[in-house]
Amino acid sequence: MKEFDFNQLISLCKRRGFIFQDSEIYGGINGFWDYGPLGVELKRNIRELWWMEMVTKRNDVVGMDSSIINHPKTWEASGHVESFTDPMIDCKNCKKRFRADEITGDKCPECDGELTEAKQFNLMFRTHIGASADSSSEAFLRPETAQAIFTNFKNVLDTSRQKVPFGIAQTGKSFRNEINPRNFTFRSREFEQMEMEFFVHPSEREKWFEYWVESRLDWYAKAGIKKENLKLREHSKEELAHYSARTIDVEYYFPFGWQELEGIADRGDFDLSRHIEHSGKDLSYFDPFTQEKFVPYVIETSAGLDRTLLTVLADAYDEEKLEEETRTVLHLSPSVAPIQVAVFPLHKKLKENAEKLESDLRKQGLRTFYDDRGAIGRLYRRQDEAGTPFCLTFDFDSLEDNAVTVRNRDTMQQERVNISQLTDHLRNLFKNS
Ligand code: ATP
Repeated sequence: MKEFDFNQLISLCKRRGFIFQDSEIYGGINGFWDYGPLGVELKRNIRELWWMEMVTKRNDVVGMDSSIINHPKTWEASGHVESFTDPMIDCKNCKKRFRADEITGDKCPECDGELTEAKQFNLMFRTHIGASADSSSEAFLRPETAQAIFTNFKNVLDTSRQKVPFGIAQTGKSFRNEINPRNFTFRSREFEQMEMEFFVHPSEREKWFEYWVESRLDWYAKAGIKKENLKLREHSKEELAHYSARTIDVEYYFPFGWQELEGIADRGDFDLSRHIEHSGKDLSYFDPFTQEKFVPYVIETSAGLDRTLLTVLADAYDEEKLEEETRTVLHLSPSVAPIQVAVFPLHKKLKENAEKLESDLRKQGLRTFYDDRGAIGRLYRRQDEAGTPFCLTFDFDSLEDNAVTVRNRDTMQQERVNISQLTDHLRNLFKNS
């Protein structure tokens, strides 16, 4: 298992434009993060990869995109108003607030001050709809994307021509007023989720649960994360959420320990039944073949996009000792790397040729980047830190042999490739790395 200084990764994220502290010029705001030019591309690529595998490549999962603010009754039905809480403790002296499970003794860990009793704190962000700010206008920013999938179950069923078993997927922002945001973006107050609810006949719940656990674990390998740093952890009976019959988390080994990336949960008919009860609407399913009417059971896969991105970065991060220096490199998979190929001219006289090559590759659909500000060695190092798998150098020989040097980020080996075969050659390299 890889151990490294997590702070080095955080500073690389800032230095290269992956992730910035939100509102940094005003001193920052705890638990909120902004993605820079490389970060936003990496995020898009991971989200795309999820959508591709979960929706586009399947005929039994459809997508949707709901509002962030839903009817407040949604959150009564789901149980969030009543029980989406963390017990918290305040210090009477320094006024700092802690999650009860973070406190070991009976004194404040920061100033040794006296502590209050634990109180329940609801993690949903509140807001008001319209001009009046009384309790009748109160609403919440969604703390998960899943509930709008349940409230739209009938709409999607009636319009998509799907039959049980089938799934509904969505990605989007969720908000939780975490008491103690920490570990960079790992625990934030605003984050993005990638969730899929798979509706099954009650008799098939185990089969589909097993299927989705396997399938989700495989997905992380497609994003380039090494299998040996991942594990599955089944929740004990005591730990299970009130709605869940069974939950298995996918966990990753971070420098701050094993942590959850995703939960796969057998939610039974909890959510649909609660929405039937609270809305008075019939959300059951009628099977045209067996003539059976039933409330489907649900297998949920619930992943965090920001957490996955952090995992992809942590897993790719490496400091390699070379003869004269230490090379910092991100071994990002070409499937998610923000830049797949960087193009440099060896000399400023070759600028136009190199720019044309970069523009041709971009038109072919590759994610490219042109740079000529610095010596080739420095340009390589910059791209190593950006996680770019391949760099091309256009030199004086290129004018004669119509070929360029392709440098492999991971092996640092170079090879000469004819420009006419370049796109196919690069696509093959992407497939095999
Ligand atoms: P935790 O125990 O870490 O608070 P959870 O079990 O409450 O997480 P879920 O409600 O299952 O998390 O949410 C599903 C996924 O959403 C998590 O696996 C995680 O990837 C992501 N997620 C949840 N809370 C946060 C957060 N505060 N910041 C970033 N991602 C989050």
